Amino acid sequence: MAHVLIIGAGGVGSVVTHKCAQVSEVFSTITLASRTLTKCTAIAAQVKERTGVTVAVEQVDADNVAETVALIKRLKPDLVLNVALPYQDLPLMDACLETGVDYLDTANYEPPDEAKFEYKWQWAYRERFTARNIMALLGSGFDPGVTNVFCAWAQKHHFDEIHQLDIIDCNAGDHGQAFATNFNPEINIREITQRGRYWEHGEWVETDPLSWSMTYDFPEGIGPKKCFLMYHEELESLVRNIKGLKRARFWMTFSEQYLTHLRVLENVGMTRIDPVDYQGTPVVPLQFLKAVLPEPASLGPLTQGRTCIGCLFKGVKDGREKQLYVYNICSHEEAYREVGSQAISYTTGVPAMIGAMLMLTGAWKRPGVWNMEEFDPDPFMEALNRHGLPWQVIES
Ligand code: NDP
Repeated sequence: MAHVLIIGAGGVGSVVTHKCAQVSEVFSTITLASRTLTKCTAIAAQVKERTGVTVAVEQVDADNVAETVALIKRLKPDLVLNVALPYQDLPLMDACLETGVDYLDTANYEPPDEAKFEYKWQWAYRERFTARNIMALLGSGFDPGVTNVFCAWAQKHHFDEIHQLDIIDCNAGDHGQAFATNFNPEINIREITQRGRYWEHGEWVETDPLSWSMTYDFPEGIGPKKCFLMYHEELESLVRNIKGLKRARFWMTFSEQYLTHLRVLENVGMTRIDPVDYQGTPVVPLQFLKAVLPEPASLGPLTQGRTCIGCLFKGVKDGREKQLYVYNICSHEEAYREVGSQAISYTTGVPAMIGAMLMLTGAWKRPGVWNMEEFDPDPFMEALNRHGLPWQVIES
C-alpha cells in the first residue's frame, strides 16, 4: 500500500496514472501534479470513469525545488514518479534528496540551453542518494527502460557474452497528420537532430544526423522498414553494464514525409533552441514550433497501426554463436481503447508503472542511483506480460 506522486500531466503522465489506478493493491493513493492543474483534472476524470479510482490533483512547478519540497512534505508520498520533461530531472532529484523520498524517471537530464543528454549529471547523485538511504531508478520507459531490461534478461538467460546489440525502434503507425511527434515535440526534435553515435571496440563513433540507414524486416506482418542510426541514451549505461559488448547501436524508423518536414524545419531555422528577437520579445523557435504542432496526447484517437521495439543480440553461449531478437508489438488502437492514448505514450507509461511497482514492493530496492539493467530482469519481464506489453523471442 503506497502513495505515488506522479509529476507531469502529458501523454505519458496520463498512461502512468491509468496504469497505477489499475494496480490499486500497490498504488493505494495516487496524486497527479503538473504545471497546469486543468490537465491533471482532465486525466483524473478519465481515470475515474475508466477504473473508478479517485486520483488527487495538485499544481506544481517542478523547476522550483522549494515548491516541490513543500508539496512532498505536505503529501508524504513514498515515491516521486517523474514524467514531466528531462529538464525537471535534477530539480526533482534535489527535492527527493531534501525530503528523503525515492525517485523514478523515464528520460535522462538535458540542460535546456544545450541539446545534449548524458547520465553524468544524474549519476553524480549516487553517493548522496546512497547516504540518504533512498533510491533513484533512471529511464524506466520503453527505450530507455524495457530495452535495458531485455539486455539484462538476454545476458542472464541466453548468453555468456553479448558481442553485438542493435536496439531497433519501429513505429509502423500512422496518425494522418502532415507532421506531428509522438512524444513531446521539443524533446523529440532535439534528440533526432543530434549527431548519430554508436559504440564499437571500446569507443564512440560519430555520424552525421540520420545519415546511416538499414532496412529491417519486422515480424508479425509489419514487414520491411527503413531505420536510421541515432544516438540514444540507454547506450551510455549499457556499454558499461553488458559483458563483452563489442558494438552497440540504436535505430529508429522514420517516414519520408516526416524526414522531409524535419529537413525543411531545420533549414529555415525552426528547430533552433537559442532565443531570437521577435518584435522585442525573445522567442525560442523550437518552443514556438512545439506550440503550433499537435499535442502528443491529441494523437490518441487518430493513430492506427502498431509499434515494434526490440533488441537484436549476437553473441556466444556455451562456445556456440547465437542470435536472439526480443521484441514487443503494441497496437495504437488497443492502447487507445484501454487508456485513451496512442502506443508511444502507452509503451512509456506501462514500464514507468512497473518500475514504480517493483520499487514499492521491494523487488527492486537498493539505495543509490541505478539504471534498469542493474536489477534482476525477471520480475520486470513477467510484469510486462501481465500489464499490457507482452514480449516475444526469436532465436537462431
Ligand atoms: P508531454 O509534453 O506530453 O508532457 C509533459 C508534461 O510535463 C506536461 O504536462 C507539462 O505540463 C509537464 N511539465 C513540463 N514542465 C513542467 C514543470 N516545470 N513542472 C511541472 N510540470 C511540468 O510529454 P510526454 O508525456 O510525451 O513525455 C514525458 C516524458 O517521457 C519526457 O521526459 C519524455 O522524454 C519521456 N519519454 C520517454 C520515453 C521512453 O521510452 N523512455 C518515450 C517517450 C517519452 P504543462 O503541459 O502544464 O506545461
